[in-house]
Parts: sequence; structure tokens; C-alpha cells
Amino acid sequence: MPETHRLRILWTDGHEGEYDYDYLRGYCPCAGCQGHHSLSVEFKRPATSVTPLAIEPVGNYAVAFQWSDAHATGIYRFDFLRKICPCDQCSEARKRLGGERENQGDS
Ligand SMILES: [Zn+2]
Ligand SMILES: [Zn+2]
Repeated sequence: MPETHRLRILWTDGHEGEYDYDYLRGYCPCAGCQGHHSLSVEFKRPATSVTPLAIEPVGNYAVAFQWSDAHATGIYRFDFLRKICPCDQCSEARKRLGGERENQGDS
């Protein structure tokens, strides 16, 4: 296993994103994590640090993670992954849009 604790995605347009595994786990888009009512996916900090035991492609549009905390129901669409790209450039773009707020649960 890589020691980086990150998933790196190189997009077809040359953009590169590095996703911390806890970050991805926190953004798990499944109904169990997000609730049925919410339209936008919010970041929910995982209780424990996780690593993926397996990463499975879903068709050609998404990827599914089997997390070390036994959670495996989230389907991460690539367009969603691109939307939550944590790099400075994309974070800035998200802030400017002011739409989706990251709920870091710091309170
Ligand atoms: Zn989930
Ligand atoms: Zn980015």
C-alpha cells in the first residue's frame, strides 16, 4: 500500500487532484451518510481514520471504495470527485462560487 494516505487522480484535461482518504470517506455520497433529505453532499468527518481496502470501478462513470471501517455503499461519480477536488485552485473556485460550504464540524 502507498504510504501517502492519498488517492491521486489525473484528469483527462491534465488537472491533478490528490484526495486524502479521510476526506473521501467524509464525502461519502451514500444515503446512509448523507441522509435522504440533503441534495448537496456535505463533508462529515469520519470517526476514525480510514484507508480503502478495495477500490472498484463502477461502469465508466464512478468508483466505489471499500473502506477499512467496513463501509462500502458509497458510489463516487467522477464528476462528483472533480467537484470536491481539494487542490488550492479548485477550493478557491468553490469559495468564489460560495455555493457549497464544507461543514468541517469545528464547533
Ligand atoms: Zn456512506
Ligand atoms: Zn483541483
